Amino acid sequence: MSQLANKQRVTVLGSTGSVGTSTLDVISRHPNRYSVHALTAHTSKEALLAQCLAHHPAVAVLDDEADAAWLRQELKRAGQLTEVNSGPEALCEVSREASVDCVMAAIVGSAGLLPALAAAEAGKRVLLANKEALVMSGALFMEAVARSGATLLPIDSEHNAIYQCLPAEHRGGLAKHGVRQLLLTASGGPFRTWSQDDINNVTPEQACAHPNWSMGRKISVDSATLMNKGLELIEACWLFDATPEQIQVVIHPQSVIHSMAAYQDGSVIAQLGNPDMRIPIAYGLAWPERIDAGVETLDLFQVARLDFEAPDETRFPCLGLAREAMRHGGMAPVVLNAANEVAVEAFLQRRLGFTAIGQLVADVLSRPCQGRVDSLDSVLATDQWARQQALELVTRWSA
Ligand code: NAD
Ligand code: MG
Repeated sequence: MSQLANKQRVTVLGSTGSVGTSTLDVISRHPNRYSVHALTAHTSKEALLAQCLAHHPAVAVLDDEADAAWLRQELKRAGQLTEVNSGPEALCEVSREASVDCVMAAIVGSAGLLPALAAAEAGKRVLLANKEALVMSGALFMEAVARSGATLLPIDSEHNAIYQCLPAEHRGGLAKHGVRQLLLTASGGPFRTWSQDDINNVTPEQACAHPNWSMGRKISVDSATLMNKGLELIEACWLFDATPEQIQVVIHPQSVIHSMAAYQDGSVIAQLGNPDMRIPIAYGLAWPERIDAGVETLDLFQVARLDFEAPDETRFPCLGLAREAMRHGGMAPVVLNAANEVAVEAFLQRRLGFTAIGQLVADVLSRPCQGRVDSLDSVLATDQWARQQALELVTRWSA
C-alpha cells in the first residue's frame, strides 16, 4: 500500500494514554499506510501538543475550552494548521467524520462510550480498546455495528487473541463454529500470591505496578482486583456471542498466552506473544494483513515455562461479581461498571481501601434497579444513578 490515496485515515481517541501512545508508535512505523485525522486527550495538553507536532493531525480535541485555547495558540505559534476543538461532542465528530476510515477507541472508562458508539454507527473500522463501552451498552453497540456494517476489531489483548483463534467468520454463536469454550487468560495481577491480610493494606502505588503490562492507572487497579477480567468476561460475551458459562478464566502469570479457543474436537488454539499492546494494535490497524509492530518474536527459551491456575474468587471477589452481573443481564453490568469506576477513583485518591472496592460494587449491585438496555438514555441514566449511590457510600465509608 504505497499510494497516498490508499492511506487509512485514523482518529485516535485517548491518544495521550498508554494504548494511544502505542497506537501512534505503530502508525509512525508505517507512514505510507496511515495518516492521522484526529488526536484527543482529556487534560494532558502538553502531551497532546507534542503529539500534534509529531503527527500533524487535521483536528485535536481537549475536554476543556481553556486548554483548547492554549493548544490553539501554541500550534499557531509553531505554524501548524491543526483545528483545535473541545468537549464531548467534538470527540463524536472526529469519530464519525466522513474522511475517517478507522477509529482507535482508547479513552478510559464510560467517557469513551459515546465517541466509540459514534464510530460504530458511522460504519468505521473500530479498534475497540475501551472495554467499558461494551460492558455498558453491549446490545446497543453490537446492533449499531451490524446496522452500519462497521468492522469491529477487539484491541484488548485477550479478545484480540480469541479473534485470531476463531474462524474468520464467527458470527452466530460459538457452537455453530465448533467452539466449546473460550479460555480467557489473566496474569492474576500483582497480588496473586498475597494473603488476605496483606491485600487489605494495598496502596495505589502497589496496585498500579503491574508485573507484566504497563497500563493506565484505572485498568491497573482493575487488573489488581481482577475486575478487569470480569469486565473482559462481559466484553467477550458480547464480542463472540458467548454465555458466561462458555468462558473460563485461567490464571497464567507469565502473560505469554493471551487467550485461547477450545474446539469440540479437543483442539485448543492459543495466540502467544510478548506482553506488548502494539501486537493487537498492529493487528487491528492492518487486518486482514499483517505489519511490523516493533515487537520482538517471543523467545520461548527465555520464557522457559508456562503456568496455569484457577482464580481465587474469595480473595478477588470482583470477578464473580462481574460474572453474576452478566448472568443477571439488563442494567446490572452498567451498575457494576459505574460503581467500580467510582470506587477505583476513590481508592486512587486514598479515600477507600483496596478491599472496599469489591465491597462497594457488591453493595450498589444489591440495590433494586429497574430498566432495560433499550436506549442510550436509559443506560446513561442508570450509570448516573449508580455513580450517585457509589459516591454516597464513599462519603459514608471514608468519614
Ligand atoms: P490511560 O489512562 O493511559 O489513557 C486514557 C486516555 O483517555 C488518555 O488519553 C486520556 O487523556 C483520555 N481520557 C481520560 N478520561 C477522559 C475523558 N473523560 N474524556 C476524554 N478523554 C479522556 O488508559 P489506557 O491504559 O490507555 O486504557 C485505555 C482503554 O483501553 C481503557 O478502557 C482500558 O481498559 C483499555 N485497555 C488498555 C490496555 C492497556 O494495556 N493499557 C489493555 C487493554 C485494554
Ligand atoms: Mg486485557
